Amino acid sequence: MDLFLSGTARALQLRVVALVSDYDLSRVARVLRWYEALGSGTIDLLDAGAVRDLSPAERTRLTEAPVVIRALLGRFGARMPTLFLGPKSARPHAWTFRGGEAYALVPAGARAAMIAHELGHLLFQWPDLPYGERDGVRCLMGRIPLPDEEDGIVPPCMALRVAAGWAAPEPLSAGTPPSQLAEQRAFAWAGLLIERWQNRLVAFELSHTTHGPLVALRRVITIPPDSACALALVSRTTRAREDRLMGAVG
Ligand SMILES: [Zn+2]
Repeated sequence: MDLFLSGTARALQLRVVALVSDYDLSRVARVLRWYEALGSGTIDLLDAGAVRDLSPAERTRLTEAPVVIRALLGRFGARMPTLFLGPKSARPHAWTFRGGEAYALVPAGARAAMIAHELGHLLFQWPDLPYGERDGVRCLMGRIPLPDEEDGIVPPCMALRVAAGWAAPEPLSAGTPPSQLAEQRAFAWAGLLIERWQNRLVAFELSHTTHGPLVALRRVITIPPDSACALALVSRTTRAREDRLMGAVG
């Protein structure tokens, strides 16, 4: 069933199937509201209930053999992104079969950050980013230890939000001072997508494939405190061999 909202925005639907009898959807619902606040548009949650007839053998094969999952998806019919809440031992992951059926699996009771990460794969086809704090990148899909706090979900970087169509990059011109590069906004410059985190500028290259967006980290630049022009910095650093410029350019 397709729902069309306000002409072009289409509501997403997420079906949740529990593979354990004791489950709670409130955390999943909270993650969906979190996505909506980021700009995803409405995401409807459909509680498909619990599957109680899995054998112990099937239960242990959930993460190692997709055949069980695929059979379950077939049982539920209509093709819809499906989140399985599995046993504690379930390894969180997301997958799309060749036929197009897509699912994610997290242990029931998973932290909100883990649910949000897997839903990033499932609902928006976001890739895992092979970058983390060490590279100067903080992103829901990055290589970071997920925070323990319930509400401490690291947001997706702006490049992924642009890829999802939730944000449009603002064009920059040479001479734009760093003070105008606010956080949580996307900027386009010289074919790169630039966002600011504290005193750093991170430049991504964004491309699209049939499997979803690809995000490549191009540069991380520390803005020197006395820098008058961020773009001159990006330009010089793009030509430089060093990826990081630690306040040496004025
Ligand atoms: Zn992942």
